[in-house]
Amino acid sequence: MVGKKLNKEKHSATIKAHRNTLSNSLWCLVVYTIALLVLISCGHHPQHQDSEFLSLIKKFETLSKKSAIYIGMEFVEGFEGAKVGECSTGDKKIRISRRFWEYSSDIQREFLIFHELGHCLLLRHDHTNETYEDVYNCPKSIMNAYISTDYCYELYEEELYNELFNN
Ligand SMILES: [Zn+2]
Repeated sequence: MVGKKLNKEKHSATIKAHRNTLSNSLWCLVVYTIALLVLISCGHHPQHQDSEFLSLIKKFETLSKKSAIYIGMEFVEGFEGAKVGECSTGDKKIRISRRFWEYSSDIQREFLIFHELGHCLLLRHDHTNETYEDVYNCPKSIMNAYISTDYCYELYEEELYNELFNN
């Protein structure tokens, strides 16, 4: 009789302990879910980036020593007017005109991607439209509102990188 009672007590103790771990892990799950929701709502989760942009993103990350994993990057067919790309700071998304992309050189593509990442990642919200007083009016900054010609970009590449990444 006594032995049996002891066993029962032991058993109920085991159940209690089991319940405790169960409610502990439930709590962990709840806390984890809330933390995840907070992170997601703040936009701090890796976003989709079209594979076409990956090598330029890598180059930008190396030069700026910043990670772009939280910036989404995708193609849109095109924009109204002369616009060829945009960074929307709210949802941290860069949209690039596929029409422009298909007709532009590697240098122009780099200028555009670096320009939009300048807005979205380096938080350069304004355009810097100063130009050199050369015959080509080469831009002094990748944050110029107009995309540089290949000639200007190659001529002033070091200065342009310096202006964007070492400011
Ligand atoms: Zn811009």
